[in-house]
Amino acid sequence: MTGLVQGVGFRPFVYRMAMKYALTGWVQNTNENVRICVSGTAVDLDNFVISLEKEAPPASMIENIATSELAVQDFVGFTILHSDDLSDDITEISPDIAVCDACLEDIKKQGTRLGYAFVNCTNCGPRFTIIRDLPYDREKTTMQPFAMCPDCRKEYETITDRRFHAQPTACSRCGPHYELIVRGNPVSADINVIASQAANVLENCGIVLIKGLGGMHLACDALDENAVGRLRLIKNRDGKPFAVMFRDLGTLRQFAFVDDVAQQSLVSWRRPIVLLEMKKDTSPALAENINSGLNLVGVMLPYMPFHHQLFQRLKTHAIVLTSGNFSSEPILTGNDQAISQFTSFVDALVLHNRDIYNRTDDSVARIMDGRERILRRSRGYAPAPVRTGMDVDGILAFGAELTNCFCIGKGQKAFLSQHIGDLQGLETMQFYEETISQYLKLFRMKPSLLAVDLHPEYNSTKTARHYGGLPVVRVQHHHAHIASCMAEHHLDEKVIGIALDGTGFGDDGHTWGSEFFVCDLNGYERVTHFEYLPLPGGDLAAEEPWRMAVSYLYKVYGDDFSKLALPLFSGIDPEKIAMVVRMIDRKVNCPLTAGAGRLFDAVSSLVGLCQVATFQAEGPMRLEALVRNDCYEKYTFDVDKTIRFDATIKGIVHDLTGGVSLPVIATKFHNTIISVIFEISNTIRAREKISKVVLSGGVFQNKYLLEGSVALLRENNFQVYTHAAIPANDGGIALGQVAVASKRRELKCV
Ligand code: ZN
Ligand code: ZN
Ligand code: FE
Repeated sequence: MTGLVQGVGFRPFVYRMAMKYALTGWVQNTNENVRICVSGTAVDLDNFVISLEKEAPPASMIENIATSELAVQDFVGFTILHSDDLSDDITEISPDIAVCDACLEDIKKQGTRLGYAFVNCTNCGPRFTIIRDLPYDREKTTMQPFAMCPDCRKEYETITDRRFHAQPTACSRCGPHYELIVRGNPVSADINVIASQAANVLENCGIVLIKGLGGMHLACDALDENAVGRLRLIKNRDGKPFAVMFRDLGTLRQFAFVDDVAQQSLVSWRRPIVLLEMKKDTSPALAENINSGLNLVGVMLPYMPFHHQLFQRLKTHAIVLTSGNFSSEPILTGNDQAISQFTSFVDALVLHNRDIYNRTDDSVARIMDGRERILRRSRGYAPAPVRTGMDVDGILAFGAELTNCFCIGKGQKAFLSQHIGDLQGLETMQFYEETISQYLKLFRMKPSLLAVDLHPEYNSTKTARHYGGLPVVRVQHHHAHIASCMAEHHLDEKVIGIALDGTGFGDDGHTWGSEFFVCDLNGYERVTHFEYLPLPGGDLAAEEPWRMAVSYLYKVYGDDFSKLALPLFSGIDPEKIAMVVRMIDRKVNCPLTAGAGRLFDAVSSLVGLCQVATFQAEGPMRLEALVRNDCYEKYTFDVDKTIRFDATIKGIVHDLTGGVSLPVIATKFHNTIISVIFEISNTIRAREKISKVVLSGGVFQNKYLLEGSVALLRENNFQVYTHAAIPANDGGIALGQVAVASKRRELKCV
């Protein structure tokens, strides 16, 4: 059997099935598969194979069961053979699994596990975060220093036990433990004291640093405005929304709209953060400064025993649980670092002595068009491979610059790394380089082909130079976006590829980001794109949407734009506006951009929603938050060689000065973009006879835009492909790079 069949309780499950059908023989973990040799009647053998597929443990994923008949042998009973280190082909590594209900029960009842926060079993517990090497055995995890006590050893060796071969199994006598540290001093190692005191700090406007599965978290009462404000100061994070952990599903429902699909994600063993729309005017309510007044909040449910133990002692309904780091640095994993960096900022630290080997953040998902869409792929998802259906062996893809993930190819599987972050600070670069090395070692992969973004100055592109001497495939950013979505759906043909996002290096040297391609995995024809506009101040313009608004207004109205009575002018120094106009006139620091994100920025500024962004994509998010579902109007636009929005801008200005409400304007604008997507797709279909449309790029994290585009295209008999398991943002780029590199190698164009 191949697939995700190690570290998910598979061998004991096989054993139980063998018992059920009275079979004799053996099962063995190797690093390429799980092998089973069984003897019994034909009927029992058939039923056994059916049961293997039907009743497999929740976190397992069977890729293939290959069977063949062997000469009859005599076995005594059914045994589990020792793991064999056979070859460089590996099986997969399970992502971390949220604590199961049976283990939560054990904490309440089992003598040596009463209140024991590191309880786990073959169905749950840490996996990827503690694994140093394969095959998955305790000595190759960060549980290695903890020798099992006789009782744990007995369970571990008892085939019928739920902890049979549960590598991280432990109890209060032999396993890791938590420690509470206050003002630099260890206070207690008693879990009851730790949980009670931590709860007490949280109830009193305090901040607690808590060591988790893949890194440290910072926590505070999510209903306490002052506590959240304190946390913002510590994190040095102006407005970026915080994730919130709720006590349980019932409590969450009092605060947010939870549909069936969202519920499935929230309670799944992967336990991602799910972006949910909050109910208005609830009492009590979440602190306003959690999400800067946006209607979406990232929420999750407890997934470690300690989370449950903490909530047992907390009166509040929810806590902020945000990554323990200073903005722009990766999430902290080491105890010493946590103590030295955070002791003076937080009121208490809850650490433990099980090391984190593979750093992972919480994953983030959003439910769109009735499906879970991963926006940040990390804990619970990585490092499960993407089955590409093509030969990606030996390909190492370095990803983009922001929201980076890299990707390695092994056989037909692409192992997309966990979320790394923005490759800008020293710490993140270290994390990036270390994690690449760890993946190469863990998955026993020797790269033979490299894939990088076309942008020569990306730190990812530069990192590839350390792997000198290997052939390099350079992939245009938006082609990689489309290829990523194609790889997710096993598409290998000509498609209409529409990539809408903020930025990306184009092959004409300008900034792209609104690409309408006819493309396949090998290459693309850029059919059209949004008209180029000056981006006054370059990268600064992405942080200050008003600059882009000036760029559009100046283009449409010329000097007259300053006479328009717009909210824009109330907040920004007229001197600065005049300076931006001069920059545009003189073409100083005004690269040309076609980024769709910049148009969203400009409109968010025009309507007065966001002049200076306090976090990435704030303007577009605020604009989307206003959208209504009962407005079908749109603005006009022009299509010649490019797509021009002069008429759209005029329409918005007209509506603004005519007193049309902002929600209507925001909706009309979204409808306009949906209409552009549809109209261009139609034109291309008529010309090329292609009806498969692939949508990718960060702009498609916008629910209204994605759902509206998909619905309109489907109604008109397009087949539409969108991201679900792979992020539509730059976190998915590396998978696209792998797919393009594989195709070019196949066509011998490398
Ligand atoms: Zn369990
Ligand atoms: Zn023990
Ligand atoms: Fe992008």
